[in-house]
Amino acid sequence: MRLTYLGTAASEGLPALFCECEHCKKAREAGGKSIRTRSQALIDDALLVDFGPDTYMHMLQHNLHLTQIKHVLITHCHQDHFYIDDLLTRAAPFGNADGIMHVYGNNMLSALYHHNVVTRGIYPNTDKALRIVELEEFETVTVGGYEVTPLLADHNPAEKCFIYMIQKDGKTLLYANDTGYFKDEVWEYLKGRKFDLVSLDCNHLDMQVYHNHMSIPCCRKVRERLLLMNCIEKTTPCVLTHFSHNHGGIQEELETLTKGMGFFIAYDGFSIEV
Ligand SMILES: [Zn+2]
Ligand SMILES: [Zn+2]
Ligand SMILES: [Zn+2]
Repeated sequence: MRLTYLGTAASEGLPALFCECEHCKKAREAGGKSIRTRSQALIDDALLVDFGPDTYMHMLQHNLHLTQIKHVLITHCHQDHFYIDDLLTRAAPFGNADGIMHVYGNNMLSALYHHNVVTRGIYPNTDKALRIVELEEFETVTVGGYEVTPLLADHNPAEKCFIYMIQKDGKTLLYANDTGYFKDEVWEYLKGRKFDLVSLDCNHLDMQVYHNHMSIPCCRKVRERLLLMNCIEKTTPCVLTHFSHNHGGIQEELETLTKGMGFFIAYDGFSIEV
């Protein structure tokens, strides 16, 4: 299983759209891995995770052929993870991809889709191009050959936000953003499970933040608990992502800050195979 990070910033991007703060200035100067777009990931060139406002840019940067992607998991409906107007362009006359793209997520996703397709009524051919599949927490579904289980995130109380357990060919990925420290029922669910790759929300860097998003201290706590529960080995890759301009996102600085803690720092285009 190969996980590729297409975007690794929080919702405003890094540098942010309307910002000249020190972190944004440093990111502009540093360039390269320190320029971060909004969160999105690709698994094995087959399964997309999230469909945010930088999807079009990711298509250009990575020469993606999105016509070939038939399955998309949505973590939640914050605009950096779900930008419905671009998704709807899969329908004619804007797009001409064969078959249906299945988009999996929570009940807010279904409601937003209904609002845009039915109430706004500006995308008449959408049903031929897209199908929304509503998921229930802790219920495993088969998604294009992957076994996918949505687990409840600690994030936006206005909707059911999901982190995902994704399995294929004996490999298991835990993809966890956006979320704070995992909920008790998630820890309960994780008992006895093994992961080959873990991806964690690290929005708040070195602050002591445990809710809504995570931080380095919180991610360390998660990793330590996963180790204690034998869900991972010391050598299991744990990757940090979803960095905010409020706290900093210079690649080398983040690598220094987390040195010896057993983390990889994701950047746009970072890819890891297990
Ligand atoms: Zn986010
Ligand atoms: Zn800034
Ligand atoms: Zn969010």
